[in-house]
Amino acid sequence: PASSLDELVALCKRRGFIFQSSEIYGGLQGVYDYGPLGVELKNNLKQAWWRRNVYERDDMEGLDASVLTHRLVLHYSGHEATFADPMVDNRITKKRYRLDHLLKEQPEEVLKRLYRAMEVEEGNLHALVQAMMQAPERAGGAMTAAGVLDPASGEPGDWTPPRYFNMMFKTYVGPVEDEAALAYLRPETAQGIFVNFKNVLDATSRKLPFGIAQIGKAFRNEITPRNFIFRVREFEQMEIEYFVRPGEDEYWHRYWVEERLKWWQEMGLSRENLVPYEQPPEELAHYAKATVDILYRFPHGLEELEGIANRTDFDLGSHTKDQEALGITARVLRNEHSTQRLAYRDPETGKWFVPYVIEPSAGVDRGVLALLAEAFTREELPNGEERIVLKLKPQLAPIKVAVIPLVKNRPEITEYAKRLKARLLALGLGRVLYEDTGNIGKAYRRHDEVGTPFAVTVDYDTIGQSKDGTTRLKDTVTVRDRDTMEQIRLHVDELEGFLRERLKW
Ligand code: ATP
Repeated sequence: PASSLDELVALCKRRGFIFQSSEIYGGLQGVYDYGPLGVELKNNLKQAWWRRNVYERDDMEGLDASVLTHRLVLHYSGHEATFADPMVDNRITKKRYRLDHLLKEQPEEVLKRLYRAMEVEEGNLHALVQAMMQAPERAGGAMTAAGVLDPASGEPGDWTPPRYFNMMFKTYVGPVEDEAALAYLRPETAQGIFVNFKNVLDATSRKLPFGIAQIGKAFRNEITPRNFIFRVREFEQMEIEYFVRPGEDEYWHRYWVEERLKWWQEMGLSRENLVPYEQPPEELAHYAKATVDILYRFPHGLEELEGIANRTDFDLGSHTKDQEALGITARVLRNEHSTQRLAYRDPETGKWFVPYVIEPSAGVDRGVLALLAEAFTREELPNGEERIVLKLKPQLAPIKVAVIPLVKNRPEITEYAKRLKARLLALGLGRVLYEDTGNIGKAYRRHDEVGTPFAVTVDYDTIGQSKDGTTRLKDTVTVRDRDTMEQIRLHVDELEGFLRERLKW
């Protein structure tokens, strides 16, 4: 695995996985572009998720809701009021930080002084932040007095009282930029699922339990984007809202934690690097009955890859009309605008109720980062040279097969290689590349670095011009394995079955 983010960032730029967005103008902070190989890897990951959660199941429907979101959706969801992170400024350096991130980076003795000043039990950072936000004036003074360091300068700062900063991106829909035209870029894909609950139910006649799955962009104006694509302002999520009967929610919550852990392992992440973390009651969001985060050992630390929450009837209950009649258990805003009943009619009793929901919510970009980190391998070869190999699961590799003509100046060889490429592409296994840049050694090295599992070389033997004057190797090619570097010779007719076996899902 990668030992630092820096070596991943360097590889991603060098080989065309991921670039800083708007780089030629100095870059847009917290935003990245996926290059030729990054787009393939990301698509493969998303398709694997979709296949598993939509196609292979018989209790799931897909959805692709809009990014632009009606203000009332994010009003009733609670995002307008509470989707905010605590922020603090250093008056000396003018630098701004997310409070919990800043505190995590402080030396122990500084934190100790702060716990004491805020009268919070030592070690509970979550409680400390809460106490500080309840008494911001006192907290700002306490931070300065405790000598909280500014990571930018390494010096103690003069800290303002911390305050909440709402992370939603606002925009205006239509030509008039006034309050009435205000809309948001969605901060999560989930709300699009909840507000379409009745549409999907009516269109598909689903019975509980069933789920709705969605992959798409989400936007958060993070105070301190950092750690490459781990924390960014524009990212993608893969989310499921799985609707169940109240009372069956705890079973399905456990089920989805197991299911998601299993899936990440199938994608190539090792079990030792995946850590399920059950949020203690004081960390839970107010709407959640239980949340298990799947943490991953990223090169920069153990952090959240996916969250699986039991959100009870909070979401549908927040967006439904007839709230009083439905016996909602969660604490929701009184909805005065919704025109639809987002509930379920029990086919046996005829009674209406609001389903509970289990939400497995994964970050695509964090998934890509985890895959890259896990796959990154430095190997010393017998001749003392070093090679970098990206040991991605073959099905996820950006390029599945590189077809390489041994020489570029023999039309029989290059034409053969092009025809073979077209034939392999028709198998539908993903991207097959006709590779005629550089010499063969360089091509192998490059494809090791980008994780291409198989390199197929077309040579003189293939076209029936073996050195011994025979044609006995006609229509055979060499196949090189990325991980073992072993080469075998196969007839092209066998090659199809060989690749299909190793690249099928
Ligand atoms: P964090 O605590 O790390 O900010 P979160 O708990 O706010 O994350 P959720 O709201 O649970 O995250 O979002 C679900 C998933 O979306 C996360 O597990 C993560 O994979 C992804 N995600 C959230 N925020 C970001 C971000 N700024 N950049 C990249 N991915 C993100």
